[in-house]
Amino acid sequence: MSDQTKDIEELRNQIKVMEVFQNFLININKKLEIKDLANYLISFLKQSFGVKYCSIIIENERYSLDPINDKKIIETENRVIKEIENNKELILLKNIRNDTLVHYIKNEHDLALISIPVLLENKIISILNIYDELKNINKKSVELLNYFLNKASPAICNSISHNKIKIKSYTDDLTSLYKRDYFFERLMYEITNMNKYISIMMVDIDYFKNYNDKNGHQLGDYLLKEISLLFKSNLRDKDLTCRYGGEEFIIALPETDSASALIIAERLRMNIENHNFKLKENQPEKKVTISIGLVTTITKEIDISEIVKEADKNLYKSKRSGRNKITHSIIINKNLSGDYF
Ligand code: GH3
Ligand code: MG
Ligand code: MG
Repeated sequence: MSDQTKDIEELRNQIKVMEVFQNFLININKKLEIKDLANYLISFLKQSFGVKYCSIIIENERYSLDPINDKKIIETENRVIKEIENNKELILLKNIRNDTLVHYIKNEHDLALISIPVLLENKIISILNIYDELKNINKKSVELLNYFLNKASPAICNSISHNKIKIKSYTDDLTSLYKRDYFFERLMYEITNMNKYISIMMVDIDYFKNYNDKNGHQLGDYLLKEISLLFKSNLRDKDLTCRYGGEEFIIALPETDSASALIIAERLRMNIENHNFKLKENQPEKKVTISIGLVTTITKEIDISEIVKEADKNLYKSKRSGRNKITHSIIINKNLSGDYF
C-alpha cells in the first residue's frame, strides 16, 4: 500500500469515528429517562466497542443487559466502586476470580474487569463496568471509551436532574413519601388491576402536638421523617406509602388479605412503640405511638373515597378507644361493611 493510500485510509477511519461520535452525542442527548440513557449507552458500547458484558451505575441503580448480575458480581462492583470513590480513577482487575482486591468474594468467572468513572466537574456521576478477556482490553480502546463516556457526562447529568425533578413532583419534601394525588392515581391502578383484595391503612401519630410543643417544631419534623423511614423498612417495595397530611399517612398493601394486613399493621404499631425516638420520654407513657384504621376490600366495585372514609372511621375508633390501637374492617361489597376486629 502506498503512503498516500495509507493516509486516505487513515483519514476515512478518522471520519468514521467522528461520525459515530457525533451520532452518539445526538442520540444520548435525547435520552431523558435514566433507564433509556443507560440502555442506549450499553447497546452503543456493545455495538461500537465490541464490549462483551457491561453494567452501568447511575444514581445508585445498576443497569445491565447481560447475564452478569449474580450476587458475587454485585459485591465485586461495590468493592471496586469504593476504591474508585477514593481515587476517582479507572481500575483494571486482570482477573476477578483472583485479583487481590476482590479475591475474598470467590467469583466463578475468569474475566477481567475494567471500571471507568464518569466525571463531571470532578464529581463521579456514573461508573461503567466492562467484563472481558484480558487480551481484548487494550490501552487505546480504553482511552477512546473514556473519552466517549466523559463527553456523555452532561447528558447523564441531565437525565439525573430530570429524574430528580420527576421524583420531587410526586414525593413529599420532608418525608420522601408519595404525595396525595400521585398516591390516589397509583391506588386507582392497583384496585382496577387487583386479583382478590387490597388493604389500606390510615395512620396518625398519637399526641403529635404534644411532641411539637415540648420539643420544638424541628424535632417534630425529625419524628415525621423517622416514622416514614420505619414505614419503608417494615413494608414491601410494592406497598404504597403516602403522607396524607400533617402527621397522617395512608398506606396501600396490594394483594394483601385481612389476616396478613392485620399482622403487618400490628408489626408496624409495635415497632414504632418500641423504637428509641429522641425525647420520647416527653410523650404520654414515655412512648411515641401511632393509631391505625385498617380496611380490606375484596371488591373492585367501590369508590376510593368510600375506602378512605372507612379507613378514617376505623382510625377514629382507634383514637377513641385509647390510641396506640388498630381497628380493622372488611368491605365485602358496595353496600356492606364486614365485621370490626
Ligand atoms: P391525636 O393523638 O389525637 O392524633 O393528637 P395530635 O396531637 O397528634 O393531633 P393534633 O391534630 O392535635 O395535632 C397535630 C399537630 O401536627 C399540629 C400541627 O402543628 C402538627 N404538624 C402538622 N404538620 C407538621 C409538620 O410538617 N411538621 C411539624 N413539626 N408539625 C406538624
Ligand atoms: Mg395525631
Ligand atoms: Mg391528625
